[in-house]
Amino acid sequence: MFLDLDGTLSPLKEKPADVVLEKRLLELLQQLHQRLDGALAIISGRSIDDLSRLLSPLELPLAGQHGAERHDAVNGYSLTEPDYATLHEAREELNRFLEAHPELELEDKGASLALHYRNAPYKQTTIEKQLESLRERLGDALIMHGGKSVFELRTTSCNKGEAIHQFMQVTPFAQRTPVFLGDDLTDEDGFEAVNALGGYSIKVGQGETRARYRLDDTQAVEAWLKTCLEQWPVEPA
Ligand SMILES: [Mg+2]
Repeated sequence: MFLDLDGTLSPLKEKPADVVLEKRLLELLQQLHQRLDGALAIISGRSIDDLSRLLSPLELPLAGQHGAERHDAVNGYSLTEPDYATLHEAREELNRFLEAHPELELEDKGASLALHYRNAPYKQTTIEKQLESLRERLGDALIMHGGKSVFELRTTSCNKGEAIHQFMQVTPFAQRTPVFLGDDLTDEDGFEAVNALGGYSIKVGQGETRARYRLDDTQAVEAWLKTCLEQWPVEPA
């Protein structure tokens, strides 16, 4: 089972830093993780540091920054190195841009940058233009993705689908049927990956999607996860 975090397990907040996972949700994840013999991973745009902090004291397999970082029980930590020079230039330029647009927030995740505009949705077009011109100058090294009130910039072609494929190569995920829940545009790669593997893709909320199933919101996700836990047969030891 692969789960996105923001907008899937926890409602979106004005600032991503304000998100907290309720204790009962952490307990539920812990139980699911045990029941699945460890085959429960979080696949997120957040950094692994940030995910570990949010999930503490749980230690789950993690894919951070859309798969640029991974942590699993078999291989430990791995990072697909970004093009640091290009990221550095982008960060410098965006910091200058932010001086004129203080409502925006630039998050440096190490291998990627996120420009959040939840406090200024009316600036979406201005930001898009700025990022387009940045991309023209820095060239193809920079990959850009729009999400909910955020633009993500990275230099590696990692995505959530590849992150899922990588987990599916290793124990305890290998040879099992994948399930992926996500709510945003970057989750579409994940949906495609599990569709191709004959798994279950589940979109949270409204909007066009390649997912084959749908849940309304984070509350519905929690209720569904609880039902899974209650109804899955316990394998004899
Ligand atoms: Mg999300």
